[in-house]
Amino acid sequence: MPGLEDLYREIILDHYRNPRNRGELSTPPAHKAEGFNPLCGDEIVLYVDVDVEDGTIRDLKVGGQGCSISQSSASMMSAAVKGKSVDEARALTRAFKALMSIHETTLEGGDGSGTDTPVPDPEVKLGDLEALQGVVKFPVRIKCATLSWNTLTQALDEVSSAAS
Ligand code: ZN
Repeated sequence: MPGLEDLYREIILDHYRNPRNRGELSTPPAHKAEGFNPLCGDEIVLYVDVDVEDGTIRDLKVGGQGCSISQSSASMMSAAVKGKSVDEARALTRAFKALMSIHETTLEGGDGSGTDTPVPDPEVKLGDLEALQGVVKFPVRIKCATLSWNTLTQALDEVSSAAS
């Protein structure tokens, strides 16, 4: 009977071997953003096509290379936010980073009740993304897991500042 950790490992490996939304989009209309994690050598290239009229992420493609955590996180992120509104994508980003930072606080000996700990929205369902919570046992890998989300935030910020 496989345990939860085995299930999580399967989900991560599945996204690593069969990455979702892999490729490029033409710019414009898509916006390109790049992220780099020098600690591990991970690289993420995101192409985000945002419909500025209704604020939805019409399409999103992922390029780049790196370790299994960074690439599977990028794949899961792309599947989770594609077709969603920019607001929903930002809420998901907050929830995912809260999942990572709460554990980070615990690892550092805090009780997780610090005022600067991001509070996850209980309405936001992370689904497969919860598989990545295992990486918090290896603090050096947290930056691998959050890289694609930080790159997404950067892309959305650039799109919204260009539109205003
Ligand atoms: Zn990495």
